[in-house]
Amino acid sequence: MVVEITEEQFKEEALAFLQANAKPAAKVHYEWGRGSDRVALFADKSREEELAEAEEAKAWARLAFDAGFGWITGPKQYGGRELPPSYQRLYDSLAADFDIPSQAPRGIGLGMVAPTILAHGTEVAKTRYLRALYRGDIIACQLFSEPSAGSDLASLQTKAVRDGDEWVVTGQKVWTSGAHYSDIGEIICRSDPDVEKHRGLTGFIVDMHAPGVEVRPLRQMTGGASFNEVFFDEVRIPDDHRLGEVNGGWTVALTTLMNERAAIGVGGAGVQVAALEMVRLMELARHMGKDDDPMVRQRLADLYISTKIADITNLRALAKLNAGQLPGPELSISKLALTNNLQKVVEFVSLVLGSRLVADTGEWGTYAWSEFVLGVPGLRVAGGTDEVLKNVIGERVLGLPKEPS
Ligand SMILES: Cc1cc2nc3c(=O)[nH]c(=O)nc-3n(C[C@H](O)[C@H](O)[C@H](O)COP(=O)(O)OP(=O)(O)OC[C@H]3O[C@@H](n4cnc5c(N)ncnc54)[C@H](O)[C@@H]3O)c2cc1C
Repeated sequence: MVVEITEEQFKEEALAFLQANAKPAAKVHYEWGRGSDRVALFADKSREEELAEAEEAKAWARLAFDAGFGWITGPKQYGGRELPPSYQRLYDSLAADFDIPSQAPRGIGLGMVAPTILAHGTEVAKTRYLRALYRGDIIACQLFSEPSAGSDLASLQTKAVRDGDEWVVTGQKVWTSGAHYSDIGEIICRSDPDVEKHRGLTGFIVDMHAPGVEVRPLRQMTGGASFNEVFFDEVRIPDDHRLGEVNGGWTVALTTLMNERAAIGVGGAGVQVAALEMVRLMELARHMGKDDDPMVRQRLADLYISTKIADITNLRALAKLNAGQLPGPELSISKLALTNNLQKVVEFVSLVLGSRLVADTGEWGTYAWSEFVLGVPGLRVAGGTDEVLKNVIGERVLGLPKEPS
């Protein structure tokens, strides 16, 4: 690959763009009792706030894209700049020092749907959607789970029936994050009910504004409603919006799921891990007068060690991603390591805070942890549950016998 710009020139260009369009980020210095004590994993926002956040994310994306920083590594023919991954890392490290609108609403579209369109989409889909996704003109969601198909995704029942150059889709999806502000969705449907379940699936890009698509909010126990049920009533999808082969949807789904585990486990999926900052946990123990308790000290040391091991394991997965290789089962280890560590934080704060975790005394830095504790199970389920990831690691990494079907 001939690189037309040196890293030094690129850095100057990026800094000039960031300085002209964003304010420097305030330096975060953690101190007990000062600033925000929020450690929640999932933001507890109203629908209006979520829609406004999505619009802000799109506005920033357009600005960055038009200046050449929207899709740094992507192929030129679809709107990318075709620069090596080191340029993306350089831009990310520079951008981290600026106060930029959260890009979390675009996380699923860029982290999971766009790589799948690039790998399996038709020319029509690649041309129409990749540039639009990276420029923030549109947002995408993931329409996989159904009321009776989560871990066992291949059991899904939403049907797609061919009708000339179109497919007619009818059924129900559930737990669709961000469907309420999405313009397109990646949907996996049953296209042949008469063959073995993994062989009768087909993937598509569906227009979320098409007639017959209905999005209904689902409220989660942390208060917000960032999930939805999505109903499809004879929704028409052109065949050029198909992803991969007819009945090849399982391969398409696996591409997306691998990218999902990469996005959650290795970072960048908008997962806030303030809760894993050791200084925050040490200060909590100190404030509660438990920093001399051997049980508390032991748990903290254990957590420190396992977060370091997770960081090092992630470097392995990152090296593979940066080398342009398809993420493998090691990403299941990254995601499992993250959720294991979050669970250890839950146990640590429960031990230290006791009843303050369930009764709000108004005291800074105490009850705020309850929202975190209620959010961890969600992350242990999203993108493959802990148990299912253990099965993947057992079978594909350790070579253990397959689970009986
Ligand atoms: C925060 C969050 C965001 C999400 N966003 C999306 C989204 O945008 N789009 C989307 O399509 N879906 C989304 N989901 C849904 C998610 O993919 C499913 O919840 C997940 O796949 C699990 O499916 P399920 O909820 O049906 O649980 P089940 O599959 O019914 O699992 C129930 C329990 O059984 C266990 N279990 C199941 N199978 C096995 C097995 N073979 N061996 C051992 N234990 C097993 C599980 O570990 C779990 O404890 C989201 C979920 C969450 C929590």
